[in-house]
Amino acid sequence: MKKTYKIGVIRGDGIGPEIIDEAIKVLDSVCTNEDFELSYEEYLMGGIAYDLKGTPLPDETIEGCLKSDAVLFGAIGGQKWDNLPRQFRPESGLLKLRKELGLFANLRPTAVFDELLDASTLKPEVLKGVDLFVVRELTGGIYFGEPRGNDGTKAYNTMVYTKPEIERIAKVAFESAMKRRKVVCSVDKANVLEVSQLWRDTVIEVAQAYPEVTLTHMYVDNAAMQLVRNPAQFDVILTGNIFGDILSDEASMISGSIGLLPSASIGGSVGLYEPIHGSAPDIAGQGIANPIATILSASMMLRFALGEEKAADRIESAIKKVLQEGYRTKDLAAYGAKEVCSTTQMGSIIADYVSRI
Ligand code: NAD
Repeated sequence: MKKTYKIGVIRGDGIGPEIIDEAIKVLDSVCTNEDFELSYEEYLMGGIAYDLKGTPLPDETIEGCLKSDAVLFGAIGGQKWDNLPRQFRPESGLLKLRKELGLFANLRPTAVFDELLDASTLKPEVLKGVDLFVVRELTGGIYFGEPRGNDGTKAYNTMVYTKPEIERIAKVAFESAMKRRKVVCSVDKANVLEVSQLWRDTVIEVAQAYPEVTLTHMYVDNAAMQLVRNPAQFDVILTGNIFGDILSDEASMISGSIGLLPSASIGGSVGLYEPIHGSAPDIAGQGIANPIATILSASMMLRFALGEEKAADRIESAIKKVLQEGYRTKDLAAYGAKEVCSTTQMGSIIADYVSRI
């Protein structure tokens, strides 16, 4: 008897449904040669949930996700919902879901595919060997701190981190480093912010339990510069919510396409696996979105949530092979394309390669 994992699926808005279809196609393909199956349950979130249910995050979605082994998510948002009051906007749904699931850690790997060295705005020699992993705190910091407000003449937000919040995210970074090259660079602004001073002191304390890991510290402004100057110097980057938001997007450009990068949000009992990009309304419905970021997110889900390392490796090998063979979606058409594929073609080609590995 094959074991069955329950996967919650949130397609969302814009290109979300298109890219999730392809990830499921690849997951189904991988399962045929493994000793597990996946059963999918769909849930609403984002603009579509607002349209159908009057809220960007219906209670059924929270309950359903909590009963799943992992959640695979596409993307949410679009202009149609931009002028709604903040609590009804799609993004509020996602922020609330992260809170409800206790997802305090966002993991974003950035590796460079040799075949796509030219796709980056950085020089190929700067990119060689880049393989970094951003661990971003996700539920604290200035995005959530109180008090906050805007009375039309004065606006303010509050950056707060408690010691336990810093300890738990630091542990995620050190644990991740133990499975990688054993180097953590903690990024803060300790020369200016009290919050960052506590961050730094706490990270140093947590590091005591990981003597094999080398810990360095960098101010966020320098980190922003070093990421484009010499990104290969980094292994694990540990940072807070707002700095991580900015640095992980900067790191994403190293690879050349936002359509290639996966992410995982973990910490509670159920993790959320999603591409780093948004709902790309400008290309939605055209069949040109790159599904690879979402397929790699599905692979992270197999690895981190389900412990199915072999299946995850098979998907990653298939993607490398497909890129080596010159298959590209439109966003990467200018970089070594032998054949330009639609979203569904790309999903089918990867699924086919997966079935042969
Ligand atoms: P975006 O990531 O959606 O798009 C930025 C650019 O990248 C666009 O030109 C888009 O066409 C391109 N792009 C993105 N994904 C692609 C893919 N898979 N293949 C090819 N090209 C791709 O960011 P944006 O335009 O700033 O935001 C659009 C909407 O998405 C907004 O409503 C925003 O709030 C929302 N958003 C959602 C999430 C999420 O769901 N996690 C994240 C970021 C933005």
